[in-house]
Amino acid sequence: MLLPKNISRPLPHLLTIEWNDGFSATIPLEKLRDECPCAMCKGEQIMGQPVSFGIKMFAPGMNELEKLVPVGNYGIQASWKDGHDTGIYPWQLLRRITEQYNTKDNPNSQSDASLNGTSKK
Ligand SMILES: [Zn+2]
Repeated sequence: MLLPKNISRPLPHLLTIEWNDGFSATIPLEKLRDECPCAMCKGEQIMGQPVSFGIKMFAPGMNELEKLVPVGNYGIQASWKDGHDTGIYPWQLLRRITEQYNTKDNPNSQSDASLNGTSKK
């Protein structure tokens, strides 16, 4: 089972997640908030009918993380500085978000290295 081995914050607005299979990635907190899976953010459906549309408005501190609390073996609950704390991120969702920010195999960093020796004026 894929589980985070270590979760750290290299910078106040970044979250680095290392997984037990060796994969690790750094994601901006803004992205984490953007992916908040709670009914308020994603919209709620009852009997297939949307009852709310997940309208998001900017609130001060909404992209600032107050704390992350593990929820059993299931995932983590994020508390944000605007008071929003209903988002629980299952590990699978967290993994999907971090895979979009895989920095190890970033092709851009490789092409940067291949430009060594050329100088721009
Ligand atoms: Zn939410």
